[in-house]
Amino acid sequence: MVLSTQPVEITRDAGERQMAIRWADGHLSLYPWRLLRFHCPCAWCSGEWGQPGALAGTQPEDLSEEQTTLEDIALVGRYALQPTWADGHATGIYSFRLLRSLCPCGQCGSAASP
Ligand SMILES: [Zn+2]
Ligand SMILES: [Zn+2]
Repeated sequence: MVLSTQPVEITRDAGERQMAIRWADGHLSLYPWRLLRFHCPCAWCSGEWGQPGALAGTQPEDLSEEQTTLEDIALVGRYALQPTWADGHATGIYSFRLLRSLCPCGQCGSAASP
């Protein structure tokens, strides 16, 4: 089965502190903000050229309230999202493909689950 990587609806839910993505195939993914920030793909957070990033060796629980508060979500072209976090961090570009692979539901077999 090929999973859709095309979102039809993206919702920032401040009450639940999670982001919801409805995919073109009907699947609904719910991302707790903390999980989303922890998987920030930018070079500073995740490292580059074999160097560990700022989040290496940390746990999602180590992130501060500010770091895990989603202020805004911008679309990058037709392929990615760029969230802005309350601590000012906004360099992470999450491709839809990455987001789909991060879906924490049991069905998707997420990389984020233990
Ligand atoms: Zn980052
Ligand atoms: Zn899923």
